Amino acid sequence: MAADPAFLTVVESTAVPQRHVLDPSSGLAAWLGQRGQPAWRAAAIRRWLHGRRAASFADMTDLPRDLRADLDADFRIWTTTIAVHKRAEDGTEKLLLQLADGQRIECVLLRDGDRRTVCISSQVGCAMGCVFCASGIDGVVRNLTTGEIVEQLLRLAALLPADERLSHIVVMGMGEPLANLDRLLPALAEAQDPQGLGISQRRITVSTVGLPPGIDRLAAANPGYHLAVSLHAADDDLRTRLVPVNKAIGLADVMAAADRYWETSGRRLTFEYVLLGGVNDSPDHAADLARLMGHRAALVNVIPYNAVAGMPWKEPTQAARERFLDVLRDAGVNVQVRRRKGARIDAACGQLRRAAAQAAT
Ligand code: SAH
Repeated sequence: MAADPAFLTVVESTAVPQRHVLDPSSGLAAWLGQRGQPAWRAAAIRRWLHGRRAASFADMTDLPRDLRADLDADFRIWTTTIAVHKRAEDGTEKLLLQLADGQRIECVLLRDGDRRTVCISSQVGCAMGCVFCASGIDGVVRNLTTGEIVEQLLRLAALLPADERLSHIVVMGMGEPLANLDRLLPALAEAQDPQGLGISQRRITVSTVGLPPGIDRLAAANPGYHLAVSLHAADDDLRTRLVPVNKAIGLADVMAAADRYWETSGRRLTFEYVLLGGVNDSPDHAADLARLMGHRAALVNVIPYNAVAGMPWKEPTQAARERFLDVLRDAGVNVQVRRRKGARIDAACGQLRRAAAQAAT
């Protein structure tokens, strides 16, 4: 069955001031040109912001003083404010950012050995409606702009000491990234700039609910990214219950699109499977999943459910989780369990925004 184009409907933002200097469409280069400034200044300003963590135009000490003042009058660097900043004992830090229109999004910094991974959002809310996920409870509000996506990266990078850099990006925060590719792709391109964050495309993961046209677009735009597909069930009935957009797509089409991405990219795919206690965590479910994986060179990422207040779903028991993993491993499937990080700071997708909204009401 073909995917309903409604899933890719673009929700535009009118919220962010036109001249967000972190947005590649801010018009900075033209603005500099009108002032008779050399073209390389645009790159120098970007380098200050992305590579040197300048917090204001005033910090850009090698720019003429008048220019700094003019920039400050016409452009904004930060369109968000930090509404909540939480730190967990394992080094995970989570920001709840308030956007210019009052909406709120989450982003997370994870520390793991030498890795400094950030998890960023692509939309305010989410239209996919996965029944266990906090992000989609109230639907999608709007797409994030490219500048808002870049701003999350820089806000999180600024949490690191000067001698540490971000190493990995996972687009696994709020929203469905493939429903906002027009804004996401330029932001991910910025992240790779060697003069800026310098994060290689191979260290960038885009996680999708599985929208075949979006997967194909990503492959056409840049198959260098690592693709993660959220499955959560290996048969259509159960998947449609858990991931309602599956009704109009179907697993066969999701898997076919994933296979096309693999053929184009040559990179091992990841399939995510959130284990919900008593729902999709039996040995039979694991056997179905192993059959679906077949001979694919894929990694199954099993994610024990992180309980969301007010939702009926349960975390899997330790025994169920181990049985599930045993069945997959015995069938020769590459499997890993995502370690829980930052659970106490509501680090799963959409949870902090929801907790904050509920506390406020
Ligand atoms: N829309 C994208 C990316 C966002 S969510 C996608 O569906 O992949 C990233 C992953 O976190 C998804 O696999 C999602 O199903 C999972 N997730 C959402 N809520 C969760 C929760 N409460 N506990 C554990 N995983 C969750």
